[in-house]
Order: sequence, then structure tokens, then C-alpha cells
Amino acid sequence: MRILVQKFGGTSVATAENRRQAATRIREARERGYHPVVVVSAMGRQGDPYATDTLLVRACEERAAIDRREMALLLNCGEIISAVFMVQTLAAAGLPAMAFTGGQSGILTEARYEDARILAINPERIIKCLKEEKIAVVAGFQGVSRDGEFTTLGRGGSDITAAALGVALQAEAVEIFTDVEGVMTADPRLVPQARPVRVMTYNDLCEMAHQGAKVIHPRAVEIAGAGRVPLRIRSTFSGGEGTLVTDRPKSAAPGETAITGDRTVTGLAHTGEMARIELTSGEDLNRSDLVLEVFRLLAEAGISLDMIQVSPKTISFIIKEAHYRQAFSLLAKTGLKMDAATGFAKVAVTGAGMRGVPGVMARVVQALKKAGAPIFQTTDSHTSIACLVREEDLSRVLLALHEEFDLAGEADGQKNGDY
Ligand code: ADP
Ligand code: MG
Repeated sequence: MRILVQKFGGTSVATAENRRQAATRIREARERGYHPVVVVSAMGRQGDPYATDTLLVRACEERAAIDRREMALLLNCGEIISAVFMVQTLAAAGLPAMAFTGGQSGILTEARYEDARILAINPERIIKCLKEEKIAVVAGFQGVSRDGEFTTLGRGGSDITAAALGVALQAEAVEIFTDVEGVMTADPRLVPQARPVRVMTYNDLCEMAHQGAKVIHPRAVEIAGAGRVPLRIRSTFSGGEGTLVTDRPKSAAPGETAITGDRTVTGLAHTGEMARIELTSGEDLNRSDLVLEVFRLLAEAGISLDMIQVSPKTISFIIKEAHYRQAFSLLAKTGLKMDAATGFAKVAVTGAGMRGVPGVMARVVQALKKAGAPIFQTTDSHTSIACLVREEDLSRVLLALHEEFDLAGEADGQKNGDY
């Protein structure tokens, strides 16, 4: 059985017209000989009577707070409603389908209500549905724990559902449908010149996603890569080929096999709404327990840090602006001198092929200088260089880097074929 997993994000299922567009993509897959397994995100938009936000507000009119268990149940409803609607759309188009919750799809997760990891999948009910020549429509973003509790997979969790089902069902590929033409060289909302990347490796996409490109959840890329299932990020609306993510070598010329390599710079990613904190001491911090105290206080509060730098007299890092006030008051207790501010964005140049290539940092600095944007902090790995800039400089910085690394240039010649 040739299985294709097709995931549709929020915008793709938001309206009846959009769901009909999604149905067209599903029909095309059937016509190409696939058994589609469709994964859907919630369709509710703020203000809709059935949207999760609306339901949450209503539930909290009864009582100001809601327990995590009931919150998870409420959140599960969003994707379930969406799956039922999608079945209706498909059936109306002459495509018989059945809706499944995460639990009915056999998705077993850790016993935590938020950000639960998928532990295993037993997709027997899905397979039975496909054998009956029906399309399986799975509610994304959810699973059940061993003791039968409903869990949620965290923001962007439907991508994870799709990738994990793709591996469990040994699908030929997983298609992630969204509102853009694929993985672009930068967020198209900020860089109009951004173009879709035709083919890239799991490595490269994973790095971009970790650095903030929100087009796909990084964990979904890891799962697909580990299971060696090709991913394709495509537009629901244009039906274009989008971006193929694979490590599989392609034939170069007759008798030759080209090895798929990572590009030096694949794209740009950014994360906004960050705060920077710098703590300084007149004395060597290594002589006291202050370094430990700082990180322990933040860990106990569940605040995650990035761009961490520790030197004898200073500790600096960034956190989400949402955690700023809490972190500020916790750290005030240490007695260290604190220099803290909100309004930062982290911009990363990514590409697994940059390891060992000299001069990438010089080009990054040159681009930021051209954009007139001061750098507040940097970090790097063998697959990325990230700079902290002021949020107000963000779009100029992205444009300058996009130009410096010629990302709007010729699309790489590879033509996408079948999987
Ligand atoms: P969905 O609801 O379909 O999951 P998301 O909003 O999660 O869609 O992701 C798609 C959005 O990701 C796009 O509209 C785009 O603004 C944003 N985005 C950020 N970086 C990139 C990138 N490098 N390539 C494509 N889209 C990106
Ligand atoms: Mg998404």
C-alpha cells in the first residue's frame, strides 16, 4: 500500500473554501495512486464561537482558572472539530473519509498534559480505514498517555503528528501544506525577496526551524530524518511543488550518483520578542557560588535561556520577553549589578555546509554594518551564526543578510520529481 501523509495547517482548514482547496490536494494524491492519511490542525480563529480561545474565555467565566488536565481536554477539541469538518468536506466531494482522535490513531505519549513526546504509535485502526478505501483524517497535536489521559504535543504539534505517522505507517512521504510556497530563504513576511528552496537536507531545515523559522516544528524534521521519510513543504493554495527535504542522493549524470550536500548558507531565521540580561560583578564570579545561583534560580522558575555567555566578571543571556519581569525580580536577589532590556531579536544565518568555511562571520558583520544595526551578542555552532540585534533593526538586517549571501539568486537547478 502506497501511503502519503498530508498535513494541513490552521489557515488551510480555516474556511469552507480553504478546506475545498485542501480536498483538491487530497484528491490529486489519490489520483497519483496514494492512500492519503490527512492530519489537521485546529481551524478556529479568534472570535469564532468554537475557537479554543473563545471556549477558554467562556470556561473561565465559570471559574477564573482551569486545571491543566481540563485545559488539555479543551485544546484537544480544536483538532477533533477540524477533523470532523474535513471528513464532511471530503465526503461532499465524493471522497469517503473517517475522522480519528490522536488516541484512536494509536498515538501514545508521555504522561504530561503539555509538550508531551510521542513514545510509540500503533496505527492499526488507520490501516484498517485505508484498506476499506477510505481516507483517514487524524486530529493533529494530540495523543493519549498509557493511563488514557488526553495529552497535547505543544505549539506546532500537528507537524509532529504528521512526521511520526509517516514513520509509523512507512509512508512514501509526508507533505506539510501551509500558506507559503515552501521553506523560503527567509520569512516572506519580512523579506519580500525570499524564494522557496527547492531541495534541502533534514540537517539544514532542522537548524532553520530551531533558529525560529516557524514553517515547521524542528522535532517533526528530526523524526522524519531519523525515519528516512521524505518531507515536502508545499502551499495548499497553489499546489506548487514546494520544498523537498531528503538526504537521498540524486543521479547527476548517467552512471553518476550525486551526493546531497548541505549548502554553505541555506537561509535566515529569526526569533523576536527577546530580552537580554547581563549581570556583572566587581569580583571574579568563579570564587563564589553566584554563577550556579543565577542559573539555578532561572531553572527552578522554568525559564529557558539562549545565547548564554559566562566570563569571570559577567554573565549574559537572552530570554523570551514574556519571562522578563519574573527573571528580573528573581535575579535582583543575587545582588549582582544587572543591565537588562527588552526589544531584541535573534537573527541566524543557517546552513550545515558552513562548517569549516572561512569568512562567513566577516560577511555577517559586513551586512549588519551596512544595515546600520549594532550587534549586542553572538553565538555560533558548526551550522549557524546568530546575532542579537534590536527588534527595530530586524527587517533591515534580514534584507542585508539576504543580499550579502545572495539568497534571492538563481534557484538551485534540481527539479523535484516523485519521491
Ligand atoms: P501552519 O498553520 O500551516 O502550520 P505556520 O503559521 O505555522 O502555518 O507556518 C507558516 C508561516 O511560517 C508562514 O506564513 C511564514 O510567515 C512563516 N515563516 C517563517 N519563516 C519561514 C521560512 N523560512 N519559510 C517559510 N515560511 C516561514
Ligand atoms: Mg505550523
